[in-house]
Amino acid sequence: MDDGTQARRVVLVGGGHAHALALQVLGRAGRGAVRVTLVSPEPTTPYSGLLPAYVAGLASRADMEIDLARLAARWGVRFLKGRAARIDREGRRVILADGGTVPYDILSLDVGIAPDLSRLPGAEAHGIPVKPIAAFAARWDAIRSRLETLPGRPAIAVAGGGVAGAELAMAFRTAFAGRDPAVTLVCEGEVAPGLNDRARRLLAAALARRGVTVETVPAAALESACVRLADGRSLACDAAFVTTGAAAPALVAASGLPCDEAGFARVRETLQLADDDDIFAAGDCAAMIGHPRPKAGVFAVRQGPPLADNILRRVAGWPCRPVVPQRDHLVLIGTGDGRAVAARGGRLAASGRAAWWLKTWLDRRWMARLRD
Ligand SMILES: Cc1cc2nc3c(=O)[nH]c(=O)nc-3n(C[C@H](O)[C@H](O)[C@H](O)COP(=O)(O)OP(=O)(O)OC[C@H]3O[C@@H](n4cnc5c(N)ncnc54)[C@H](O)[C@@H]3O)c2cc1C
Repeated sequence: MDDGTQARRVVLVGGGHAHALALQVLGRAGRGAVRVTLVSPEPTTPYSGLLPAYVAGLASRADMEIDLARLAARWGVRFLKGRAARIDREGRRVILADGGTVPYDILSLDVGIAPDLSRLPGAEAHGIPVKPIAAFAARWDAIRSRLETLPGRPAIAVAGGGVAGAELAMAFRTAFAGRDPAVTLVCEGEVAPGLNDRARRLLAAALARRGVTVETVPAAALESACVRLADGRSLACDAAFVTTGAAAPALVAASGLPCDEAGFARVRETLQLADDDDIFAAGDCAAMIGHPRPKAGVFAVRQGPPLADNILRRVAGWPCRPVVPQRDHLVLIGTGDGRAVAARGGRLAASGRAAWWLKTWLDRRWMARLRD
């Protein structure tokens, strides 16, 4: 600092959506008073909203990637390539997987989720987890090349009938459109049970229009080249994608942080840990006490600016402000054919080209915000 006092060390672990936005605010407002470090295993991270479009071939890898290292450089933030293995709260340092350490005064976590393949036997050996999306995006090119070189019609199964599974199933139909792929969405009951009734009907109609087969008998196991269903039938497939189950990141338990029953970091309304004023957590890795919400990027995005504001307030010794998440959010599901299904809360539902236009506009606006 100019006045001779030491700058406070703010360490951001993970380049999730909240941190990508927080970088700007911290870099702009905190120069001199704080020294910000971003720790991320890779210099780029994918934006989830564009992942299905990338899979469908409607967006390039560059369109979808958030360039964290460039953002950090632009805002005067130090970028450190590394994966956090544990937080040593007593020693106030982050221990990296390679053994390095990063000291902090104030710490923030936005590390997303880990795949949970444990509930589907065989998923570990034969499934392709879609979460975390960064790992999946990195593998997609190789998976697509393999499926493209197979003789005949590729057979693809998607285990998990949530919004992400449905959107991806339709994206696969677009990705291999010239070869009429057989795509089956294997659900546990109905598709996207979290949506309102009308939106579910619109989504089911879109899946039918796009030629996706919906199997409502759940998957019992994944085997080599097939999905075994709970009623004993077998579904032959060349690739089985798994969108079910998200587990808490190992970092939370390894560091002994307070967590909910699923292992996600328990935070107060200020995004500070339940028992630590100097550690914040945002995005999918956090669970706010009293405000449970689905794991969706939209919440992480919204948390970015107020998270940065609260970090700066903590630096200044002021009380942090509550950041209560909105009750419901707009869900836009691309159908891979220039249309989308839109849903919000218990009633709003629409489908068509206008919804796709809105989704594209929102996604591109978000990416432009991180680029320009
Ligand atoms: C196919 C699909 C489509 C989706 N579409 C949408 C959508 O349209 N809208 C929506 O709201 N949500 C969508 N989601 C959900 C969305 O992906 C997540 O909710 C969102 O990415 C969560 O953001 P986050 O900031 O918590 O973390 P993430 O975006 O998951 O980022 C976490 C980052 O932390 C890094 N990291 C992980 N571990 C460590 C570590 N130990 N040390 C350092 N860094 C680490 C990772 O490399 C990554 O860069 C979709 C999900 C899927 C699977």
